[in-house]
Amino acid sequence: MSLKERIQHVEERIKAACERSGRKREEVHVVAVTKYVSVEATREVLDAGIVHIGENRPQIAVPKWEALEGQGTWHFIGHLQSNKVKDVIGKFQYIHSLDRLSLARELEKRASAMGTSVTAFLQVNVSGEASKQGIEPEQAADFLKEIADLKHVRVVGLMTMAPIEEDAERTRPVFRKLRELRDQLNAQAVTAEPLTELSMGMSGDFEVAIEEGATWVRLGTLLVGKGELS
Ligand SMILES: *Cc1c(COP(=O)(O)O)cnc(C)c1O
Repeated sequence: MSLKERIQHVEERIKAACERSGRKREEVHVVAVTKYVSVEATREVLDAGIVHIGENRPQIAVPKWEALEGQGTWHFIGHLQSNKVKDVIGKFQYIHSLDRLSLARELEKRASAMGTSVTAFLQVNVSGEASKQGIEPEQAADFLKEIADLKHVRVVGLMTMAPIEEDAERTRPVFRKLRELRDQLNAQAVTAEPLTELSMGMSGDFEVAIEEGATWVRLGTLLVGKGELS
């Protein structure tokens, strides 16, 4: 499939998932995860009109950002080491992987020093898998209260990764729990502004995530592919 066909294919599936769950198409944003592909393939994605680019390794993402002169809106979606924060601040507007207080403080320090700010998702380990990053759901409220005074880190919602399942339907409880957690945090008014966003759903499970309320899906394999685009 060409990139254009992939985009069309994904678009149809997103629309259908929105229809099934009575949601509006505009409520769901797509981050094209370009971590598997080259600068040139990433340029094709941008040229095709996709705005949101997702990358997970600073060593690869930063040179790519520079080669593309920061075109688009960049989302950092992987584990972020504190010593790499200075490299991504000012380039990545979104951090989907805020998973510890020390990272929040480092983001604040670097964003403040650069006179910029970042939009963040609190990563939650809903599935409880040892291999997954993220804070425990029970810790989310305290975490958010702890960082409420950071002026350059704006938390807009929650992010999670579901276990890889043969049958995507089995991921539904994970996505549902993330939505319920967000709704609970809002009901308790834990943050000054309600948390509106849910970053959840990848190539294998995005339709279920949308049905459960995803506002950002992160699509690599299905949308961008894993090698060069044809
Ligand atoms: C790689 C990655 C994705 C995209 O995965 P695909 O299954 O290729 O769509 C999404 N989110 C995160 C955090 C990733 O690391």
